[in-house]
Amino acid sequence: MNFKNEMILKFKAKSVNESFARSAVAAFLLPLDPTLEELNDIKTAVSEAVTNCIVHAYEKGEEDIELACSIDGDTVHITVSDTGVGISDIEKARQPFFTTKPEDERSGMGFTLMETFMDNLEVLPNQPLGVIVKMSKKIGNKGG
Ligand code: ATP
Ligand code: MG
Repeated sequence: MNFKNEMILKFKAKSVNESFARSAVAAFLLPLDPTLEELNDIKTAVSEAVTNCIVHAYEKGEEDIELACSIDGDTVHITVSDTGVGISDIEKARQPFFTTKPEDERSGMGFTLMETFMDNLEVLPNQPLGVIVKMSKKIGNKGG
């Protein structure tokens, strides 16, 4: 049996919604029976992606973040997108310790964490504006 499910959430780019997003994804993934470690890895990656939208995407106002999550068998696909200012040099932004906000005590490790905790990470420009972060992870990947 190849279990499939999907959901899309849209919420404001407000810091209170970071915990909402991570909890929502965790709840959605429970049918896969993930280990605590797998769940924490995914929650951390979602937090980093959503926090980036909150902190970097919108210069004024609080616009929307879209979080889509799908389950295809034992693999989880997560997309976090915004329609904000976008990233001019994505390759550079993905480097460890690269940040445009050092004054806000940002360490520039968000993308590195997402890459570490997930199996796959793609960062793409959204059309016409903003950023799309796509990541996936296989659940039950222990030892292989
Ligand atoms: P940290 O995540 O460690 O607090 P950070 O957010 O600066 O610091 P990353 O998450 O790795 O580090 O992001 C690197 C840079 O990419 C950011 O400093 C910002 O310039 C840019 N960036 C990331 N996400 C977005 C986004 N959604 N919209 C616009 N710029 C972004
Ligand atoms: Mg970040």
